[in-house]
Amino acid sequence: MENVNEYAYLLNKLEAAGFEAYIVGGCVRDSLLGRPINDFDITTNALPEQIMTVFEELKVAPTGLKHGTVTVIYNDIPYEVTTFRIDGSYSDSRRPDSVSFTSSLEEDLARRDFTVNAMAMDVRGALHDPFGGRGDLSAHIIRCVGDPEKRFREDALRILRAVRFAATLGFDIDERTSAAARELRGLLDIISRERCRDELVRMVMGENFAETALKYRDIIAQVIPEFCACFDFEQRSCYHKFNVYEHIVRAVQAAPQDTTVRTAMLFHDICKPQMFTLDENGVGHFKGHAEVSARAAENIMRRLRWDNDTVSDVCTIIERHSDKIVSEKQIKRMISKMGEENFFRLLEAKKADNCAKNEFVLEENKWFDECAELGRHFIEENACLKLRDLAVNGNDIISLGAQGRQVGECLRTLLDLVIDGELPNEREALLSRAREVLR
Ligand code: ATP
Ligand code: MG
Repeated sequence: MENVNEYAYLLNKLEAAGFEAYIVGGCVRDSLLGRPINDFDITTNALPEQIMTVFEELKVAPTGLKHGTVTVIYNDIPYEVTTFRIDGSYSDSRRPDSVSFTSSLEEDLARRDFTVNAMAMDVRGALHDPFGGRGDLSAHIIRCVGDPEKRFREDALRILRAVRFAATLGFDIDERTSAAARELRGLLDIISRERCRDELVRMVMGENFAETALKYRDIIAQVIPEFCACFDFEQRSCYHKFNVYEHIVRAVQAAPQDTTVRTAMLFHDICKPQMFTLDENGVGHFKGHAEVSARAAENIMRRLRWDNDTVSDVCTIIERHSDKIVSEKQIKRMISKMGEENFFRLLEAKKADNCAKNEFVLEENKWFDECAELGRHFIEENACLKLRDLAVNGNDIISLGAQGRQVGECLRTLLDLVIDGELPNEREALLSRAREVLR
């Protein structure tokens, strides 16, 4: 990253005004790990008003004045600058009842969740690490700062965060911390659903998701109890070597790091257990599971306050994840119905699904790569794939006497005929067929 040292300007500015200033939290952790840094958080003993004065000539926004946070924009990058803070008592396992400012860096670090997130570094590169974060980084351990039980009771979201960091960093959770997390996981029920969802999404994007999700399945199931039925559910099919839950998490892991595809994998088979049937040969089948899993995904995602567009994309992919793709015509129809982006995501989903089955199934992935190639080809050659690609429009159909829903239905019929090569995309031919359709 080019701008990696630009934060130094901000730290220097604060120091020149007589304050202490450090980068802190995730950015220190990630820079020590040599990982890409998401965002730079800065902590300082300057009070919010003083921070605003120091950065007078920059764009500043009083993001969370009450909590001491000011966002400073420097070279188009936002930095959160926060006053050293102590969180007051937590009576609800969610939020501190009050926060107060402190002049002690160590007190600010002590309120942070895990040792690897409780380090600060000044502009000269001196590390402040009162809780052994550096050692835990080298040992690949997520450990609470202080007593895990107390910290999880203060803010239960930390239970999910521990699992999230294990999944994204590929770390293990320290034994006392993980025991407390399991024990207190019921407290997650009172955490806001969107906060849980944000952590889940980041967890699912993790490079080490599968292993973590297997180990801490009880914690994940606290937020999505629908997974319980999948635990240890044997599929009894030659295509599969993993039980339903293990197949799901391995399929997530095999998918590219696109939130939509990974979320689709997370739910793609969630209703398999309830759709299970055994045939006379003792072989398991799951007819209809894709459709039912899509409906369950929709419920879960709405419950966890996912945005509508993501719900719709994810469910479209799940619904179709076990459809066979057999012809060029079908590829065109799929692109036409689900849109380009979801079509390519579906192919990624199908490949990831296969990666979590028995090896021989992988052979099929070459065909999915060819499907993608064909899809790109159709799009490049401007094949008629969408209603607006047709050589007639809604007004043309209305002028033939159609009304209301009839208009769209007629256009859709014409488009399907063009896609199937039964009608040229030419105005006259389309209009005359439209007359027949409307008759
Ligand atoms: P990422 O790189 O994913 O953003 P991060 O460590 O920066 O990881 P954030 O959620 O952005 O995670 O939080 C920034 C810092 O604030 C953390 O590193 C941690 O020090 C502190 N923090 C965040 N949430 C909590 C919490 N619930 N309890 C205690 N400390 C927290
Ligand atoms: Mg962060």
